[in-house]
Amino acid sequence: MVKRLIFLGFLAFSVLMTEKPLLGQTIGETRFTCIVLGAGGGIEDDNLSCYLVSEKHSNDFICLDAGSLYSGIQKAETKGSFDEIVIPANSDLLKSAFILQNQIKAYLISHAHLDHFSGLVQSSPTDTPKTIYASSQTIQFLTDYIFNWRIWPNFTDEGTGFQLKKYHFQVVEPGKDFSIINTNFKAKAFTVSHQEPYTSTAFLIENNGHYFLYIGDTGPDTVEKTTNLKNIWETISPLIAGKKLHAIFMECSYPDPRKETELYGHLSPVWMISELTNLAKLCNENDFLHSLQGLNVIVTGIKPGIKTGESTFELITKQLTGLNKLGINFIIPVQGEKIEF
Ligand SMILES: [Zn+2]
Repeated sequence: MVKRLIFLGFLAFSVLMTEKPLLGQTIGETRFTCIVLGAGGGIEDDNLSCYLVSEKHSNDFICLDAGSLYSGIQKAETKGSFDEIVIPANSDLLKSAFILQNQIKAYLISHAHLDHFSGLVQSSPTDTPKTIYASSQTIQFLTDYIFNWRIWPNFTDEGTGFQLKKYHFQVVEPGKDFSIINTNFKAKAFTVSHQEPYTSTAFLIENNGHYFLYIGDTGPDTVEKTTNLKNIWETISPLIAGKKLHAIFMECSYPDPRKETELYGHLSPVWMISELTNLAKLCNENDFLHSLQGLNVIVTGIKPGIKTGESTFELITKQLTGLNKLGINFIIPVQGEKIEF
């Protein structure tokens, strides 16, 4: 299990320096387990956005995005992250195949970019029947351009040609609650902007009154000229005040400096902190420096660099640490490892 915890110093300093009660986060008990199947946002094609999440102590997972699926399961298995899963004696499956077929209960796909679902396509002949939750735009793109018997057989129940119906596409309507089949999870989808007019999706996931938020690729509201993230912040700020939000998965594709015209619908540390500051102010305008203290933010989608020297993972970690006046607990996920939150 890894938590690269950035910036606990500011939290400790704040506790010492203020007599005011700390508002907002700092959730004691963890409720969710995440196994990171893919942590990066490119160029390493065996380490692309894919996060399994279960209720703590359960091995029934939902899969949030599926950039690197089977290779991620294999790496997580090597690191011991699936040690609790025992294959039935009458099964002759490899453990990784057993997990793919039996322990992943459903997929939630944020958008149709290849680095968010190519693993699912590669695994589809071996996978078992499941539901894929996605926006109507995402489903349209996947059926038009991928599952069409030209790029790949149509394993779904929509689109052109013979439908193999292994996967059921379930449209998620923005703002509308839905239950995730074969799990105790409920969810609500939000549209986010991923270089206008292309859209991506955020999912607010609930289990027994506890929540986490998974945001697919997104640009900042200011640059995208939308209020999509603001709408999400308005929804989750009461959950933060009520200590019910356990984590936010949020992308940070590029290190700073990054020109606005070269964000391509993504965030960099400066923009990530700017958006999180907007959230902090919604939680408590008068004391926003404390309103997100201890909040887990799992940083997704970092694009590995191609030059020698410091990695973009290290650089982004350093930059977020330097900018973190809010006491946020940034977690840089590592492929194959387990995070409890
Ligand atoms: Zn994307």
